[in-house]
Amino acid sequence: MSSMRGTMKLVNPYTGRMECKVCGEYHNACIRPMSGGKYYRGSWQCRFGCKQEDVIPKHKEVTL
Ligand SMILES: [Zn+2]
Repeated sequence: MSSMRGTMKLVNPYTGRMECKVCGEYHNACIRPMSGGKYYRGSWQCRFGCKQEDVIPKHKEVTL
């Protein structure tokens, strides 16, 4: 099983700036203390609820 990651992409490791790959929303995430440089789990989730499937559609469905 692949890990459930959000759509946020780390663009600046120094500030913790993350950007959503889908809608472009960004925020500064905080590193979890004593985690070895890992971010809070929710940091990878877009606040608008974008999903990994929205990033690169594997099969584009056209619904009219
Ligand atoms: Zn988003």
